[in-house]
Parts: sequence; structure tokens; C-alpha cells
Amino acid sequence: MALNHVNSDKAFEAAKKVIPGGVNSPVRACGSVGANPVFYDRAKGSRVWDVDGNEYVDFICSWGPMILGHGNEGVMSAVKAQLERGTSYGAPCEAEIKLARKICEVVPNVEECRMVSSGTEATMTALRLARGFTGRNKIIKFAGNYHGHSDSLLVSAGSGVATLGIPGTPGVTPACASDTMIATYNDLASVRALFEGAPDDVACVIVEPVCGNMGVVAPREGFLQGLRDLCDEFGALLIFDEVITGFRVALGGAQERFGIRADIVTFGKVIGAGFPVGCLAASAEVMEHLAPVGPVYQAGTLSGNPVVMEAGYAQLEQLCAPGVYEALDEKGAALAKGMRDAIAESGVVACVNQFGSVATAFFNEGPVTDWDSSARSNTEQFAAYYRSMVEQGFLIAPSQYEALFVSLAHTACDIDEFIGAFKRALQVVKAM
Ligand SMILES: *Cc1c(COP(=O)(O)O)cnc(C)c1O
Repeated sequence: MALNHVNSDKAFEAAKKVIPGGVNSPVRACGSVGANPVFYDRAKGSRVWDVDGNEYVDFICSWGPMILGHGNEGVMSAVKAQLERGTSYGAPCEAEIKLARKICEVVPNVEECRMVSSGTEATMTALRLARGFTGRNKIIKFAGNYHGHSDSLLVSAGSGVATLGIPGTPGVTPACASDTMIATYNDLASVRALFEGAPDDVACVIVEPVCGNMGVVAPREGFLQGLRDLCDEFGALLIFDEVITGFRVALGGAQERFGIRADIVTFGKVIGAGFPVGCLAASAEVMEHLAPVGPVYQAGTLSGNPVVMEAGYAQLEQLCAPGVYEALDEKGAALAKGMRDAIAESGVVACVNQFGSVATAFFNEGPVTDWDSSARSNTEQFAAYYRSMVEQGFLIAPSQYEALFVSLAHTACDIDEFIGAFKRALQVVKAM
């Protein structure tokens, strides 16, 4: 029986009158998959209910932050306790120290951090800091890596930009774009060539250590170490954008998981437990180039907001429990195995990339190792898969170039049911 979306459709019509496209972030738009967005009413654990009363198993998880599931008791009670004491101070509070200390304790190579209010702000500030620290102008990023929507980073940015087929970046000046050089993910030679073209002017390489924004793509053996070596050779800083991988691929993020040192690390998503937050972290030497100690300016009225700090701390504390990352990895592996088996059985041309608790089914023969191989996917087949999954009560991101997120709240049963639905979705794709 088809799900009823009357109230969601009504809400969408109303939203479009006052919000461009009816959504406050374009990745929520469902035009590319031929659907309307589902309007959520409430969420708990691995489940979401929409405004028509339909129940879904949620594999978006707010794009990563809800790693403990929705409405986690520890997070909720920390938030409620703080709410009684005020929602924003715009002044220092002890919750900021608590969260910063925790981050410095569990993340390798990090002595200080600065809290901001989004991942975009964290990466934008990290670039300015790298430029201020090195006295250089250019940056190297990878095609298909997304680092938020600041001007210099919105070039070949994968994810939402790719989904909407926006070719360049209107509104970004040519001067700004020309300081951003684009390399191929998993291809060290492409990075070396860019360095050699501007040997004294590259401030930093910024990378998603495990990519989530061209779908999930893991780094090849030696790729991250190769970036480390190239940065050392040419005197540039290595920035790991861990907005997705932070506190997800390991407690200490990708630096811990791969044993590679980054000079600056950026966080978002998981550290806010669903509240708006971002953070950049590095050695004291690098961080103290930031104002008020150093000359590189950065500020934020709501930065270090007490409610957000308490929520983030409560989430990180639970992620410190033994066995958390083994559990996340197991769930992710079970999901990927089930999906791969289903694909093999179905005869549909598709492949699955998975790393820990994130995975993507690409509608192409694979292997998907970079932006070009991701972009070869059949997005019409993806759209049919998307619509079938939603119809069967499973929320997935409405784009080929995003990830499925598994949380600790997902049970083995949730995952089995997802795989069952995936099999039926593949039949729909096959019949196209
Ligand atoms: C989501 C994301 C960002 C941007 O974070 P926002 O909080 O959406 O501004 C930056 N980098 C990566 C890798 C991301 O996935």
C-alpha cells in the first residue's frame, strides 16, 4: 500500500512560498530523485515519523550527527539541565573547557581547539589559519570532496553541487577560485603536479580522509601518507576535514584510524550531537596564530554555546565507552555485505563502498575510487532506488553522491529489514 504524503506535500507547497525551493539546505531537495521532501514530525532511536504519521528507519541520521540515534537520553538530560541555566551567554563558560579538553584528550596531535557554529566555518577558518601560518595563498583540494560552502572551497565540491548539476559556482569571484587548485582523489601524482606548479605558494592540502561527499570513497593504501610526505616536502600544512569522519571512523578520527598526522583537523556533525557546531583543532603553535593571541582573525557570537557544548560533551562521553567503534564497524559491514549479496543476486550493475558506519551503493560497475568513477553512476537508477526505499519506510539521502549513515541505535533487525527493502528496490531498478 502506498504511503500517504498529503501533509508533507502541503508543507512543501507552503515552504516553497517563503523558503527558496522549500528547503534550508539544498541537499534536502528531492527534485533530482523525482520526489518531494518528507517533512519530519519527530524522531527517536533509529526511527523518524513524518507529518503524515508514517514511520521510517532513518539512514540519514541528520547527515551524521545522530551517531547515538535520535533523542539519546544522556544528551537530552544534559541539554535540559543546561536550558535551565540559560541558552546563550556570549561569554566564556566551563562547558567549553570540558568539550575542548575531551577533544584534545582523544584526538591525536591536537593541543587546542576553537569552537565555531558549523563545519563550513571550521574549514573556512582552517584555510585562513593555514594561509596566515604559512604566508602562502593557494590551496589544494580534491574533486568531489566537500568542505562546506565558503567561496574558496566551493569548487568541484561534489555532494549537493553535483546533485543539482551546478557547473561552476556563481557568486564566487574568479580571483578566489583561482587560488583553489583541484587534484584527483587517490592520485598522488596529481597532487605532486600541482605542488610543482606553485612550489612556494601552496598553504595547505585539504582532504576528506575518507570521502563521504562523492558517495563513500576510502583512501587507497599509502594515499594519506603520501599527502603527508608531499606537504612536508613543500612546506604546506595538511588539513584533515573530519566533519564526517571525526568521532565516527574511530574515537580519534581518521588520524587515529590510519596513523597519519594532520596539521589542522576540522570537526562538525558528530561533535554537536545534532546542534549547530564546528571546531578546528591543531597544535598550540598553529592555533595560537588565531586572534586574540595571533593576527589571524576569527570570531562568533554563538561560538561555544553552552547548550551545544553540553550536548556535544554528553555525546562524546558515550562514544568513549569500550566497544562503540567495533559495534559501528560491524553494523556497517553487515549492511554492506547484505547489499553486495543482493546486488549479485539481482543482476543489476552496481557496487557498494563502505567504511565503518558509512556506505554508498553506486549504480555503476565500479570500482569507485575518485570523482570521475563516482560520476559515472546511473542517477536515474539511483532515483528509482531512492523512491522505492522511501515507499518501503527507509529514509536515505536523496542523492547518489551521499552516504548511508548507521548509528548505534540501528539494530541487526533494522539492517536486515533495510537489506530486504534494498532487494525489492533492485527489482524495481531491474524492471526499468
Ligand atoms: C557537512 C560537511 C561540511 C560542512 O559542514 P556544515 O556544518 O554543513 O557547514 C564540511 N566538510 C565535510 C566533510 C562535510 O561532510
